[in-house]
Amino acid sequence: MKVAVVGCGPNGLCAIKNCISEGFEVVAFEQTSEIGGEWNSNLEIGPNVHSKIYEGLMTNLIKEIMEFSDFSYDQNITESFLTADKVQNYFLKYTEKFDLRKHIKFNHKVINVRPISDDQWEIIIKDLETDEYKTITSDKVFICIGISAPWMPKIEGLNEFQGKIIHSRDFRSTKMFENKKVLLIGSGASSLDMVIAIDKVAEKITWVNKIQETHGTSLKLELSQRTVEKTILIKRFTKSGAEFENGSFEEFDIIALATGYDFTFPFLSVDSGIAVYDKCVQPLYKQCINANRPSMAIIGLPWFALAMPMFELQIKFCLKYWSDRKILPSREEMLLDIKKSFQKDEFDKNNHKAHYLGIEKHEDYYNDLAQTAEIESIKPVIVKIFTHIMTHAFENFQTFRKHKYKILNDFDFLCDCSLKVDTKEEFQVHENEDKIK
Ligand SMILES: Cc1cc2nc3c(=O)[nH]c(=O)nc-3n(C[C@H](O)[C@H](O)[C@H](O)COP(=O)(O)OP(=O)(O)OC[C@H]3O[C@@H](n4cnc5c(N)ncnc54)[C@H](O)[C@@H]3O)c2cc1C
Repeated sequence: MKVAVVGCGPNGLCAIKNCISEGFEVVAFEQTSEIGGEWNSNLEIGPNVHSKIYEGLMTNLIKEIMEFSDFSYDQNITESFLTADKVQNYFLKYTEKFDLRKHIKFNHKVINVRPISDDQWEIIIKDLETDEYKTITSDKVFICIGISAPWMPKIEGLNEFQGKIIHSRDFRSTKMFENKKVLLIGSGASSLDMVIAIDKVAEKITWVNKIQETHGTSLKLELSQRTVEKTILIKRFTKSGAEFENGSFEEFDIIALATGYDFTFPFLSVDSGIAVYDKCVQPLYKQCINANRPSMAIIGLPWFALAMPMFELQIKFCLKYWSDRKILPSREEMLLDIKKSFQKDEFDKNNHKAHYLGIEKHEDYYNDLAQTAEIESIKPVIVKIFTHIMTHAFENFQTFRKHKYKILNDFDFLCDCSLKVDTKEEFQVHENEDKIK
């Protein structure tokens, strides 16, 4: 069995490793010159740069829930939340430990992926060093390319604005914001990191967010008086600023958009069986296997969820079927399953949230994958820590990364944040009684 893997970020590395474990022949293509994807950071921007890591970025999850089940972070790392270089170091070591490099073709960009029969794919790759095109065939394809296309809000007049417009994808440092009037739009972790950093240097920031609505929590950020939060929507942009829904107008030098990403697969042929519309990729059985052509899978789409442990679970899910240890449902059954899951999520009303899990749904998703394929799910303690961090991070965004966590067993963990010791049954509150070394 030949498997092709597109992209060698965390997700692609895990796919290569698990294909090898299955005894499959695997070749992987990475457009940059190194593994790591998002974590292979050099603070540059440009067409051949994939990482979006910015100066001073710290992980928003702890290392124990950012690893694969077969390889742990170095025991000498005592902190819970890490700088990006430590995460990249983990992936370098993972690559070394499982001898993955020999399966990877670096500086090879996948240009076209098209089916040539029910169970065969043709893949065209461009060697970016020689500008040569190569063609290979493969029985299965794992698509592991992460996200890179900025999602731009559909607001009138954005193209007319004559100041600078920057998406968080290209944010690397605060330099360009020094003494500027900034409009920042966004409600996710990147917008919070950006507002905290830019607040120190800008003349003024107007930050339009829907934190309360999106995360169901209010923020306690200590920012200067130069930063003003707004929940009023923008009606239109003009050459020099923005008009808000309440009729007020403000001038800006820079518009910063921390508005998330679109899913795009520019190399997929029209007959690949996959269509993308407004952040929704379909039809994907259990959000990963192409229901029209099940010899292809897209890994890592569900968002506001665990990353590495979920990637591993999705990959093992696909491999259970691809190795014929379990038989996939028929196309009709898979389509019905997809339809049902969307009905549950009110798909029609909220298309762009099709792959959003969030703390209410992420655990159900992992368990559904595991039960369906009869494989092991993610350990409860990993799931609980994600829920714990995501519940409290937005309340204490400037301090939550200072805390330390310790995993006690598959169910329980300690946190020195004077909040909780989790048990198998329920949360119990312990006031800082266990200082973690
Ligand atoms: C600012 C920021 C902070 C984050 N912080 C965290 C965090 O704290 N914790 C966490 O768990 N997650 C975090 N994430 C999520 C992060 O995306 C995942 O951790 C992880 O890197 C995703 O892995 P991936 O392999 O799916 O994608 P990526 O890491 O994006 O890797 C995709 C790879 O595919 C390659 N590729 C793309 N297209 C092609 C092509 N056509 N041909 C060949 N190669 C191609 C790219 O070059 C890249 O190497 C963060 C993301 C961002 C943007």
